[in-house]
Amino acid sequence: MVSFDDTNRYFLQRQRMVETDLKGRDINDLRVLEAMAALPRELFVKPEYAAQAYADHPLAIGLGQTISQPYIVGLMTQCLKLTGSEIALEIGTGSGYQTAILARLCSRVYTIERFGELSARAQTVLGNLGIGNVEFFVGDGSSGWPEEGMQFDRILVTAAVPAIPAPLEKQLSEGGLLAAPVGDLWNQTLEVYKKEHGRMHKTTLCGCRFVKLVGQYGFPES
Ligand code: SAH
Repeated sequence: MVSFDDTNRYFLQRQRMVETDLKGRDINDLRVLEAMAALPRELFVKPEYAAQAYADHPLAIGLGQTISQPYIVGLMTQCLKLTGSEIALEIGTGSGYQTAILARLCSRVYTIERFGELSARAQTVLGNLGIGNVEFFVGDGSSGWPEEGMQFDRILVTAAVPAIPAPLEKQLSEGGLLAAPVGDLWNQTLEVYKKEHGRMHKTTLCGCRFVKLVGQYGFPES
């Protein structure tokens, strides 16, 4: 049971996160700031980490996976330049926190997670929050959404890839944006691609470190 004091404390921590870790750096997209100011991040972490939910570092969510730090979520969301009408694909549902942010800022979100247990937990949290514009799938997201001919305006990969998986490039609409951490298992660069006239044009954002994407177009299991 969450008490009034807890609710108030999380509200203040969320305000601090937005002011210091987001606005205080280079997150200035008002819709992104509004979404992150509104969403109760403490519901997406394990109860034992709730007190750290708003600290600017990743937290374990089980099965060796992590929820990304708030700044990285803000940065990745901002670089997708969402206006509200987009159909987005997310690879790596994890806790569902990034999914929920996308759901507030897009018209529809499709999200793929490798572990059924994490997907189920994320579905419960989003369901409890009344977020209904999300389709969940359990499987290898490196192969894209498993429906012939699907196209997405935005694709966000939230696990490290050695290179952009070809099926994701194929499922990105003309004029669409794709963001992913690209590199080896230890260091990656956050890359943003725009598809123009069928070709991918890259912008590089910053260094980062994500858990690996395990799959046909990702890294091997071990
Ligand atoms: N966006 C998440 C971050 C999750 S970490 C959040 O906000 O919490 C990356 C996630 O990618 C992990 O949950 C991991 O299990 C998942 N993952 C790894 N390889 C995958 C694959 N091939 N397909 C789908 N999900 C994958």
